[in-house]
Amino acid sequence: MPWQNWWFPARVGEPAVLKSDRTMERRQILKGGVAGALTVWACPRRLNGQQAAGGVRRVTDKLAVVDGGGSNVVAFSSGDGFVLVDGGALNSSGEVMAALRNLGPNSKVQTLFNTHYHTDQTGNNEMFGAAGAKIIAHEHTRQWMSTDYWVPGEDRYEKARPKAARPTETFQTTGSLKTGAEQIDYGYLPLAHTDGDIYVFLKTSNVLAVGDVASPLRDPALDYFTGAWIGGRVDAMDIILGLANDQTKIVPASGPVMTRAEFKAERDMMEEVRSRVWKQVLQGDGPKDMLEAGVLKGLARTWKDPYKFLYAAAKGMVAHHNKLDPSVV
Ligand SMILES: [Zn+2]
Repeated sequence: MPWQNWWFPARVGEPAVLKSDRTMERRQILKGGVAGALTVWACPRRLNGQQAAGGVRRVTDKLAVVDGGGSNVVAFSSGDGFVLVDGGALNSSGEVMAALRNLGPNSKVQTLFNTHYHTDQTGNNEMFGAAGAKIIAHEHTRQWMSTDYWVPGEDRYEKARPKAARPTETFQTTGSLKTGAEQIDYGYLPLAHTDGDIYVFLKTSNVLAVGDVASPLRDPALDYFTGAWIGGRVDAMDIILGLANDQTKIVPASGPVMTRAEFKAERDMMEEVRSRVWKQVLQGDGPKDMLEAGVLKGLARTWKDPYKFLYAAAKGMVAHHNKLDPSVV
């Protein structure tokens, strides 16, 4: 199928795809009730024994991963309150605060990083911001949160977040800070999942939070309308591999804490998908053709919604055609 046929669908009534990766999935979980949610978090094989006790997985004596409505909240206790990487999804403030109170005598959040703009990561920004937390994010994340924007997959606009929810300190490339003895370096991961993804590397603890740039359980998602694409994702994963060593604990936006080897396996799988999708795009194929040609077959994982993923992957690939080959016009 010529790619133009699927690249320029009618704006309203466009095939339902994408959006912030998890809004749809959360709805499905809610529809499935508590039993559905438990199947995500209580599966011992997938979590490699990392079940959360009371929504908390201890990673080091100062650092835990807290369940924030199905999203990972990295909580580092500095002794003088917390540094968080992502603050949990909408409506998860009660469970996140209860977990923080259990983790340390001083549950005040001094600093909150947002790995990207999705509400699964920024849902509690208002609460933490109002309590005085500094909110650090990439400048593009602040911009997405500061304006209404069109959500193609849901045929609606997402409203700008209130001022109190927006990042208070932004950066373009890298930054660092020190809290107690902990050195924290953070940096941009261009166009991997959105156009504002960042990593936050708690170097002293050797824990690397990578947001939705790794997706060990959920389908990898690409907000193609921000410019995110598979090539950006693979490049970003290479940046992470360059930072990590064999002892580094890598924390994705949801799902289990990963070793570097597990992260590398996901990176290699994404590179294989990139290569296959690219071949199909060169033939003028759209996502339906790709699905029928079996571009996701024979991989180490399966997709819950392969069409949705391929739609975003193909759109992103064509949007970046100028970087790829002059034969794609
Ligand atoms: Zn996301």
